[in-house]
Amino acid sequence: PAPLGPTPKLVIDLERMQQLPQEKAGPLARYIATIQSQRGDYNGRVLSIRQEDLRSLAVIYDRSPADLTEELINWGVLDPEARRAVDAF
Ligand code: C2E
Ligand code: C2E
Ligand code: C2E
Repeated sequence: PAPLGPTPKLVIDLERMQQLPQEKAGPLARYIATIQSQRGDYNGRVLSIRQEDLRSLAVIYDRSPADLTEELINWGVLDPEARRAVDAF
């Protein structure tokens, strides 16, 4: 088995997110835009989100957090390392 480091952060690739079709990425993009606005953090190429936010997004997408994580990895929005963050739930 691979050595385990600390729980990885959930880091959203904002450029990749903007390239996705609207019908897939719409709810995610609106959620992320809200966080950016709350933080006043508009200039990054990536945005780190809370584990708790992945739970909320899973409810929005009507998936389990693990399923949604796989989808976000497939879309290229999350790094495959993010799987370990969800295992920590
Ligand atoms: P809050 O949750 O009361 O957090 C107040 C401030 O504490 C934040 O101001 C930030 O400076 C710091 N803070 C809280 N939790 C963390 C954390 O896990 N990591 C880091 N690095 N700092 C933390 P900020 O960034 O201006 O955010 C203002 C408010 O916007 C937050 O108030 C919260 O209500 C909301 N918010 C910002 N980012 C997120 C997010 O990623 N997810 C959610 N659910 N809410 C967020
Ligand atoms: P990190 O969390 O691994 O982030 C690496 C780099 O990704 C950051 O470099 C920044 O360019 C970008 N990045 C990650 N998350 C966000 C985000 O939510 N918004 C934006 N705009 N950019 C993001 P940077 O800024 O030089 O930070 C280097 C390291 O310093 C970070 O590594 C983190 O470990 C620490 N750090 C920086 N700012 C904070 C902070 O406000 N709170 C905490 N707890 N750590 C911070
Ligand atoms: P981080 O800043 O390196 O924080 C790592 C973890 O430490 C957070 O994971 C959370 O469990 C805890 N933590 C850090 N600061 C606080 C705090 O002020 N209050 C509480 N209750 N816990 C705190 P989490 O929540 O999964 O967040 C992951 C990353 O998302 C954070 O890494 C940070 O980069 C970003 N983030 C989350 N919330 C905020 C926020 O409100 N504002 C900003 N600017 N960044 C945030």
